[in-house]
Amino acid sequence: MRLGFIGAGNMAQAMIGGILAKEIVKKEDIIASAATQNTIDKVAKEFGINVTLDNREVAKADIVFLAVKPFYYEEVIDGIKDVVDEKQLIISVAAGKSVEWVENAFGGKKKIVRIMPNTPALVGEAVTAICPNANITDGEKQEIVELIASFGLAQIVSEKIMDAVIAVSGSSPAYVFMFIEAMADAAVAEGMPRVQAYQFAAQSVLGSAKMVLETGKHPGELKDMVCSPSGTTIEAVKVLEEKGFRSSIIEAMSACADKSRNM
Ligand code: NAP
Repeated sequence: MRLGFIGAGNMAQAMIGGILAKEIVKKEDIIASAATQNTIDKVAKEFGINVTLDNREVAKADIVFLAVKPFYYEEVIDGIKDVVDEKQLIISVAAGKSVEWVENAFGGKKKIVRIMPNTPALVGEAVTAICPNANITDGEKQEIVELIASFGLAQIVSEKIMDAVIAVSGSSPAYVFMFIEAMADAAVAEGMPRVQAYQFAAQSVLGSAKMVLETGKHPGELKDMVCSPSGTTIEAVKVLEEKGFRSSIIEAMSACADKSRNM
């Protein structure tokens, strides 16, 4: 299986890193393109994969990931559509580009899959929503899920929840990084060394996430377990509620989903 990545930025690099770490595909069987020599040189050095500035070369792969920003889609697809045949799989990662939009841009009966991964793919901990079009067989669906699962949790979803997916997982690493950064700043303000502060904040997020996934308990119940009567934690919770912590997150995610819907 040969994989091609058109666009070699943050998301493509995260997926390539995750796939190579699991040894699903050999580095010689991966090719990536970008707009600039600088990016392809960097990617070749970091991952040891094949690189080119010619998207048409990449478009000959068995599975072709479109990993450019949504506003370049039209130009990039126009440049490769005559090279792509009906046996190849096209995997579109862009926010706001529906399966139907990509089908129309390619024309004909192409095999199109829309996915929404996130950057934790780089460490094998992504979550990726997958929407295959009607030309993908059940066997191919299975293969795609296996490939995508090489860099994290992979689930087939209905396209109508894709805007929610973008808000809750595609974009959410950014909010989580801001949360970790803010917690670390507060710990530094209390006297903790900076490196240790990032470690303690990040490990607390990781451990808390694992508790949600592994205990199956409601997050509210897990929060209650940390809040002793008259204790320190409930003081922090009180301030978070006063400052609108939860509603800030809900409103931020609605803005994210709206942006995706209107792209
Ligand atoms: P990025 O870091 O800006 O990378 C975009 C890449 O596209 C760059 O390598 C750029 O090349 C390349 N490019 C631009 N024009 C090109 C062209 N005509 N032909 C070939 N390559 C071209 O963006 P990103 O964050 O990886 O996002 C890529 C896609 O992933 C987007 O559609 C986005 O919606 C989706 N996505 C991103 C995330 C995320 O967390 N970042 C999550 C889910 C989905 P140069 O480097 O040479 O300029």
